[in-house]
Amino acid sequence: MLHSTDGWTTCALGHRHWGRAGAAGLLLHRDADGGTEVLLQHRAQWSHHGGTWGTPGGALHEGEAPHVGALREVQEELGLRPEDLVLGARSVDDHGGWAYTTVLARPARPIHAADLRLDGESDGVAWLPLAALDEVELHPGLAASLSRLRPLLEDPAR
Ligand SMILES: [Zn+2]
Repeated sequence: MLHSTDGWTTCALGHRHWGRAGAAGLLLHRDADGGTEVLLQHRAQWSHHGGTWGTPGGALHEGEAPHVGALREVQEELGLRPEDLVLGARSVDDHGGWAYTTVLARPARPIHAADLRLDGESDGVAWLPLAALDEVELHPGLAASLSRLRPLLEDPAR
């Protein structure tokens, strides 16, 4: 039986999170002249942690695999289709009772931030240099995961 996973939940670390089945996001990365760049969206002011830069993503549906949820969200939020992306490693940030899965991906074709169609949950999207992420205000979930994600992003085999 399907039932809604919408709603706030509190994890074992005491945070409030949206989505009772956990959440997933897509971290799109590419090699640029200045090093690795990641595609992040600037969250709309009204949203949870508005004004911060984060990965496109959101709450998982009941029984939904994280990579399926991440692809669904990135299609809703940025108009990117599964065939635009090559999925890579996954990294799980498990808080106890709630987890966020970051799915790494590379573009399957050149993806220009200016061409992406925003759905209103974000007011901007940009390729940001991995080396300069400490110069912008990151979503706290991404900031907390970055030390684990960085080696995956810098691994040339990914
Ligand atoms: Zn938490």
